[in-house]
Amino acid sequence: MSQDSFDVVILGTGPAGLQAAIHAARKKVSVLVLGRRPQSSLYKAHVENFCCLGKIAGGDLLEAGREQAESFGAQLWDEDVLELEPKDGGFLIKTESGRQVAAKALVLAMGISRNKLGVPGEKELLGKGVSYCVDCDAGFYRQAKVAVAGDGSAAFSGALTMLLVASEVHLIYGEATVEATLAEQVEAGEVIAHPGRKVKAILGTDKVEGLQLDNGETLEVEGVFIELGAKGAVALAGTLGVMMDPETMQYIAADKKQATNLPGVYACGDITGPPWQVAKAVGEGCVAGLEAAAFAKGRR
Ligand SMILES: Cc1cc2nc3c(=O)[nH]c(=O)nc-3n(C[C@H](O)[C@H](O)[C@H](O)COP(=O)(O)OP(=O)(O)OC[C@H]3O[C@@H](n4cnc5c(N)ncnc54)[C@H](O)[C@@H]3O)c2cc1C
Repeated sequence: MSQDSFDVVILGTGPAGLQAAIHAARKKVSVLVLGRRPQSSLYKAHVENFCCLGKIAGGDLLEAGREQAESFGAQLWDEDVLELEPKDGGFLIKTESGRQVAAKALVLAMGISRNKLGVPGEKELLGKGVSYCVDCDAGFYRQAKVAVAGDGSAAFSGALTMLLVASEVHLIYGEATVEATLAEQVEAGEVIAHPGRKVKAILGTDKVEGLQLDNGETLEVEGVFIELGAKGAVALAGTLGVMMDPETMQYIAADKKQATNLPGVYACGDITGPPWQVAKAVGEGCVAGLEAAAFAKGRR
């Protein structure tokens, strides 16, 4: 497997990640941005409180940011990150298409997931068989029948992870939005795929007992993993040893230089906590990009 190398790799193509890319690239370091723009919270939003711009569609703001970042030399790859690990004093990033990328510095700008299925049983059975994190809770379902729901890389890679522990794994998705390599891995394995289907209800009273699909089919499962979009901050940051904010355990702890507890790892935007606003995301992205570029230059 060939390996690419960059000074700074940024996870996330929302306003935080794009602003970090613009500031880092202008410091003449090599920059790669990973992620899918349509997954940004901003993509379908309409913004009217961002200084100096008046009313603007989020998708247009993101497109302008992409053009700017590329004009300063940053590369953007439209794919999700599945794994992060420390390597040779820097970091190794594995993407959903199987590419491996080495980085001297990392910027985490993956935003937050607000995605829920919104079906009966989801809220009631949370923690009683319903989970939003395969990497956190897989171990509770040894030799159990489980289902993973979601169209993106988190669900597809999550189903493959569950195959290692569970006795039966169902994957329920409408339309796959993953790289071909990941889709092929799922097709080639023992995951029972339900393409074009939606979850209609999660069944059970004190614990999950099953799942009802929109075609009326019922699956008998003990666990339901809802993994919408890409692998989230907690799961990815956790494998590296990045500290979360101790009060919430939901956001990444970063100081005024957007530095995390790990040298060379910076965090910005919604991922560091509220207020969830574009202005905060780009402000933090600017600092994170500059700091990451300086760190990478120091390691040349
Ligand atoms: C409906 C709505 C309306 C809003 N209106 C406003 C408004 O009027 N004003 C305002 O200031 N703010 C508004 N916001 C909030 C604003 O959109 C967010 O604060 C902002 O987008 C945060 O930027 P971010 O870059 O931190 O995260 P996001 O924009 O969410 O971007 C996260 C990025 O990370 C990527 N990503 C996630 N996981 C991975 C992974 N594993 N690998 C690679 N990439 C990954 C995603 O694909 C995405 O590109 C609104 C939000 C919503 C949902």
